[in-house]
Amino acid sequence: MSLHEQLQDLARNLYWVWHPEVIEIFRDLDPQVWREVNHNPAVFLARLSPEEVERKAEPLTLQARVTHALHQLEAYLEASYTWGACQAGVLRVRPVAYFSAEFGLHESLPIYSGGLGVLAGDHLKSASDLGVPLVGVGLFYAKGYFDQRLDADGRQQEAYFAADVNSLPIDLATDDKGKPLVVTVRTRPSEVRVKVWTAAVGRCRLVLLDTHVDGNRDEDKNLTAQLYGGGVQVRIRQELVLGVAGMRALAALGIQPGVLHLNEGHCAFAVLEQARRLMERDGRPFGDVAEQAAAGTVFTTHTPIEAGHDRFAPDLVEEVLGPTREALGLAPKDFLALGRRNPDDAGEPFCMTVLALKMSRYRNGVSALHGRVSRAMWRGLWPSLPVDRVPIGHITNGVHVASWLAAPMAGIYRDHLGPDWEQHLCTPETWHAMDEVDEEEFWQQHQTLKTSLVNFVRRRLRTQAEQRGEEEPRTADGRPLLDPDVFTVGFARRFASYKRATLLFTDLERLDALVNHADRPMQVIFAGKAHPNDSTGKDLLRQVIEVTRQKRFRERMVFVENHDINVARHLAQGVDLWLNTPRRPNEACGTSGQKAVLNGGLNASVLDGWWAEAWDGANGFAIGDGAERADTADQDRRDAQTLYDLLEHEALPLFYDRNARGVPHGWIRRQMAAVRTLAWRFCARRMVMDYTERCYVPAAGGATASVPGRAGP
Ligand SMILES: *Cc1c(COP(=O)(O)O)cnc(C)c1O
Repeated sequence: MSLHEQLQDLARNLYWVWHPEVIEIFRDLDPQVWREVNHNPAVFLARLSPEEVERKAEPLTLQARVTHALHQLEAYLEASYTWGACQAGVLRVRPVAYFSAEFGLHESLPIYSGGLGVLAGDHLKSASDLGVPLVGVGLFYAKGYFDQRLDADGRQQEAYFAADVNSLPIDLATDDKGKPLVVTVRTRPSEVRVKVWTAAVGRCRLVLLDTHVDGNRDEDKNLTAQLYGGGVQVRIRQELVLGVAGMRALAALGIQPGVLHLNEGHCAFAVLEQARRLMERDGRPFGDVAEQAAAGTVFTTHTPIEAGHDRFAPDLVEEVLGPTREALGLAPKDFLALGRRNPDDAGEPFCMTVLALKMSRYRNGVSALHGRVSRAMWRGLWPSLPVDRVPIGHITNGVHVASWLAAPMAGIYRDHLGPDWEQHLCTPETWHAMDEVDEEEFWQQHQTLKTSLVNFVRRRLRTQAEQRGEEEPRTADGRPLLDPDVFTVGFARRFASYKRATLLFTDLERLDALVNHADRPMQVIFAGKAHPNDSTGKDLLRQVIEVTRQKRFRERMVFVENHDINVARHLAQGVDLWLNTPRRPNEACGTSGQKAVLNGGLNASVLDGWWAEAWDGANGFAIGDGAERADTADQDRRDAQTLYDLLEHEALPLFYDRNARGVPHGWIRRQMAAVRTLAWRFCARRMVMDYTERCYVPAAGGATASVPGRAGP
């Protein structure tokens, strides 16, 4: 087999995404091309002929590394003594079907928009690492999520590119005659045909549904083209495809899920298909099988924001779901009741979250605080229970360490925590050895990472300027922007208004004083996309651009366009301080700060989401005291003041307090405290173990959890 073919084998399983030793093979072959193709191995290998690969590989002695990587992959896929094999044997024949409208596995597969998708990707990777039998089910968005550019006025421009399916690590599923597998869903006016893509994610599989099939009406062909594109008409049909065609695709692939894990209400129709199947199998009516379908279903709600919970008008539901309802033998009113808090209120829209809550027996929010908020939010469904008994628990999110950890930091952990530290990631004792890490070594590695972040951002700023036909931005004395020795703050996430991207701009004079301080300056890197239909988010984005372009800020505050997993990774790996300013209690969890922790970044965050349970006074910084005020303007003002105070009086002095060797002892102690106290708790490995033990295994057994319906404490 030629080297080129061996590399193609490595590229076929997304395993490479979280194995730096494989990524480094591609990168070392040709760093320039690797960057140009947005880290997509298929496009990369199409650009290089087999001869070119041989020629470039020769001086790098790459063959040995490729052979080794292939052996490692094979061993990984065949390992039988995994945590999952021991703890989740019941799932071996009937795996978990993990449904989500988005999956963020890598920047080269743009079928995610933000935290929800990245979380799903991290969940899949960790399930694979643990050997928990799990298959992801999502939609294939041929045009992905949009690429973001800014025009000269700082307005967001959206470009959609049709994906070249040949350049993606996905395969069209076929039947036993080699014909493309097509499943159908009945709706009005006609049925929708759906083809099925699969991707290998380590030991797990991801199944993606695509309505671009001959025989579909034109508008149905485009149903799955864009992530969160179109209005409610498109949305409800996408959700029908995700849930019902998702279940049928699994069946057609010979996968019989033992547990359904619904993430957000978007995919809740899946459990109706499960019920229909039980009806068919047992010849019983819906009312008799509903409990059984719910008993095998786990539902995770991921946001307390109202707009995050799809609600559809009854007429629309009947139009689109009519045939589904008939197959369940339900009258319209009884069907609508499944998505209504008050079944007798004919005016109440059909809510996907209500459907998911009613049709599941394991329900959770994604942080302790979000669990509490969700119990209050949905208590109307359990009117006879006191709010603290509402059966919604919590499992706090975590991040997939191998995907977010930079190589130099991984080196430190390997050296000090032991070669198999990743196997013992989730035990606090593993991290005690952090106390022995040499402060200077830790600092040097962090500085290296910050320098590569600065270089990355400079490269991006140059390209962005070129695309607008402008000169590369430079300082007054002609140097490129940003300085790796300056205190570096990162803020990157979707531009949703509750995240308050402009909180830092509340008092521009004060910000000016901080940014341009003579002895202890500060620089800020922003990134993030606003949803195409979200005019408030777009306004916020424009305000950010406007401020970064002001003369007094332009050298030290920059915006990186087209936030994606790649940008997120660079930022998480290189910043000193990760800023998170949601209006409490709207951030269900937040995960970007967890990515920074692993790489020595400190969090400055409102006590919301995960930070409310993570901050211990010494492992980062808290903005505010965790109080919530009904007057949001007042809350915003107070939070801004505390943010300035903590930057001015705590973070910046600590960062710039150097010993004779230029090392900030106090700051490093905090970085180490953050790693030691947070890394083991807020990783996806712990999260997937929690789901497995508390939800998947009991749900697969058909038994109820020890506390009925409660997931988590
Ligand atoms: C991790 C991540 C997020 C999550 O951001 P939060 O505001 O912390 O929830 C969003 N987008 C991308 C690309 C990410 O990698």
